[in-house]
Amino acid sequence: MAMTTGSERARATLTYLRRNITTGEWPVGSRIPIEPELAEATGVGRSTIREAVRSLASVGMLETLPGRGTFVRSAAPTSALLNEFLASFTLEEILSYRRALEIEAAQQASMHRTEEDVRALEHAAEDEVGCTRCPVLGFADGEESAFESRFHRLLFDAAKNRLLASLYAGINEQLRTPEHRGRLANVATGSEMERDHARVLDAIRRKDFIDAVHAMADHVDHDVVIVNDQHEVVPPLTRTPEQQQRIDSARVAQEQANA
Ligand SMILES: [Zn+2]
Repeated sequence: MAMTTGSERARATLTYLRRNITTGEWPVGSRIPIEPELAEATGVGRSTIREAVRSLASVGMLETLPGRGTFVRSAAPTSALLNEFLASFTLEEILSYRRALEIEAAQQASMHRTEEDVRALEHAAEDEVGCTRCPVLGFADGEESAFESRFHRLLFDAAKNRLLASLYAGINEQLRTPEHRGRLANVATGSEMERDHARVLDAIRRKDFIDAVHAMADHVDHDVVIVNDQHEVVPPLTRTPEQQQRIDSARVAQEQANA
C-alpha cells in the first residue's frame, strides 16, 4: 500500500523530534520549542506536531505540563520497556520501589538544587494549596485531575539525576494503569499534604539531606497507598507505637526548629 503524503509527513515529524532528543540536541530535562516554532522548522501543521509529541509522550520520552510546555524526560523510550518489565511485579513491589525513588530524589535534590529549583518548588507548593489530596499521580480524590502534582516532578528535576527522573516517570505510568489504579488511594488530607510538602521544601531550601530524607519518607507513606477490598489502607511498613512516636517527634522537632 502506498503511503499517503500525510503519513509520510507525520513519520518525518516524529523522526525529527526523536532525533533531536536522542542526539542530545534537546537534553533530558530541557523544554522543547513551542508548537509554532516546531511547525515552522518542520514545515508541517500544528496538529501533526501535536500528534508526534503525543506519540513520544506515550513512550515516556516527552512530557507536556499544562501551562509550562513540553519537556524531554528520557533519551530513549524507556517507559515502554520499563512498563513491560514492571508488569511482572506486584503492586506492593512497585510501590515500595517508588518509595525508594522519592526518598533518594529528596536527598539528591537537597544537595544539588539551584535557587531556581527552590523557586519552582515554592510555586508548585503554592499552587497545590487547597487541593484535597496530594495529586502526585494526577488522580486526587479518585478523579482524573487535569492538575498533576508538579511538586514531586520538580523534585526529580532538582535532583539532577536523569536516570532517577526517567525511572520515576515509568513507575508513575505503571501506577496509573487501570489494574493498579483501583487498588491505590491518596490518604493524606490536603492540609497534611501541604504540611509534608512544606517540610520537604524547607529541608531542600536548607540543603539538609537528613531532614529531606525523613520528611519525604514520612510523606510517601500516606500520599499514595494500597487499599484492600474493604477500602482499608494496607500500611507500607508496619511500625510499633514506639517507632511511630520517634517519627512523629522528629517531625515536631523540625517544625519547632523552623517555626
Ligand atoms: Zn506529595
